[in-house]
Amino acid sequence: MLLDRSVNPDLLNRHKQTPLMMAAMHGKISCVQKLIQAGANILMFDSLYGRTCLHYAAYYGHSDCLQAILSAAQSSHVAASWGYARFVNIRDGKGATPLHLAARQRRPECVHILLDNGALVCASTGGYGFPGSTPLHLAARGGSLDCIRELLAWGADRLQRDASGRIPHTVALKHKHGACAALLNPLSAEPLVWPSPLKFISELNAEAKALLEQALMDANREREKSILKGTAYSQPSPSHSDAGIYDNISEASDTELCCICFDQVCTIEVQDCGHQMCAQCTLALCCHNKPNPTTACLTAPVCPFCRSSIAQLVVAKVKTDNEAEHDINSSILRRSIKSRNFSEGSSSFKSLSAVGSFGKMGGRGSGRIAADNEWVDKP
Ligand SMILES: [Zn+2]
Ligand SMILES: [Zn+2]
Repeated sequence: MLLDRSVNPDLLNRHKQTPLMMAAMHGKISCVQKLIQAGANILMFDSLYGRTCLHYAAYYGHSDCLQAILSAAQSSHVAASWGYARFVNIRDGKGATPLHLAARQRRPECVHILLDNGALVCASTGGYGFPGSTPLHLAARGGSLDCIRELLAWGADRLQRDASGRIPHTVALKHKHGACAALLNPLSAEPLVWPSPLKFISELNAEAKALLEQALMDANREREKSILKGTAYSQPSPSHSDAGIYDNISEASDTELCCICFDQVCTIEVQDCGHQMCAQCTLALCCHNKPNPTTACLTAPVCPFCRSSIAQLVVAKVKTDNEAEHDINSSILRRSIKSRNFSEGSSSFKSLSAVGSFGKMGGRGSGRIAADNEWVDKP
């Protein structure tokens, strides 16, 4: 009503807070939307901490408001004049980006959205070249396992030091967040990192991406279990564990079974050649442990069946009966391999290192599997 009566949408209070900041603080998404529609300025800084509305949304964990502001930034003059990436990484008066605040305040959903929109995972509050805290330091302080998982999966550095020379592990210990400290311990197994080759597979579609992200998080949780085993922090096993996976197998027809691991159902398809594999194997194909910055070379991953380079991954289509007929021969072959595999008692499929057994299977299945395994996650 006020906006209809031409009240200035950027009216300030004594802390130079705008109505948009207050709406983002309190999670009033419809107010956020109305204010943005009325042309509210998303690039205003308050006088308390020098924060923007994006900082407010991240700090208070209102992911819907955060998303609305980011969408506005993408389509407004801000993106053109300021640069979208710069807006996402905007600093408050103490050098904190919205990602720092979301990590500190235990807001994993906001952390995820920000990273997905180009937030710098290793940003330092000290500014470029100066020591300061990274989002991982602040997540360690806040004690949110979920935030730490997100940041690590995005390649956050466990060895980066803050202004006092501490690594995130030390910060978590100091604040008595034992499980967080275990994951942050540089001696613990390195988590899988969302693979950089996937970032440049053009426009990975949302569905395929969600599947791969889920597979990555599942794989990392398996690693966590062994890290936390024997500590007081071991987690209750998730309900969708082993039983669910075996159910999937029995329901799936053989033609849908992944020809690489023979354990999981094909969910991902390489667009041009149409070869299919499961999400776990796709990740193993594209995933590296954190690349060494001096040797990391960014070559696009290739299809393990035909060696053509992968331009795009999509969610696998379910085959029609007609198509399935063509696959009967290979299906019989696969069935025999599958049963042999199970009789060997393979239970290691949940870890991506199971793909290490690839070499053994080379040449079997419906397509020749590349013999060289330079992309296989080294144990
Ligand atoms: Zn597979
Ligand atoms: Zn192929």
